[in-house]
Amino acid sequence: MLKWAGTLLCLVIVLAGLVSMRWACSWSASGFRVDVVTGALLLRIFVDGVPGRGWEIDYISSWAEAVDIWWNMASTLRWGIEVPAGNKWLTIPLYVPLFIFVLPTAFLWWRDHRRPKGHCQNCGYDLTGNVSGRCPECGTPVDDDVSESMREGQ
Ligand SMILES: [Zn+2]
Repeated sequence: MLKWAGTLLCLVIVLAGLVSMRWACSWSASGFRVDVVTGALLLRIFVDGVPGRGWEIDYISSWAEAVDIWWNMASTLRWGIEVPAGNKWLTIPLYVPLFIFVLPTAFLWWRDHRRPKGHCQNCGYDLTGNVSGRCPECGTPVDDDVSESMREGQ
């Protein structure tokens, strides 16, 4: 189910954002470094290679410090090139991917929970004129209130 995958992905992003307020996680290799820090994704390209390789976790000692880093570095989408080193960096706040995934996921939930009267509650098939008591599309028994409203209409 796509809506469940989307929901799970959104939860993972929210969780990563919360965890990264105290534990900054980074991975680096051959001139490239990815940080998840204070609710943001930080991508960096180092001209002269990265000092240190692989996974690293830094503990941010206080919430005040975390909020300070977030405000100065991670609150908005930013990019730049360090002068004179030439290293490139890009900061993507995690709410950016969160919004990208939340919107289609919310739409899927909304679509699945909005079945107008006279339509199959399972698949949304139009049951106008249906007398069998079952949806011809998926076989789900038609709700009593739906069949009743149809009998009234006849
Ligand atoms: Zn159906």
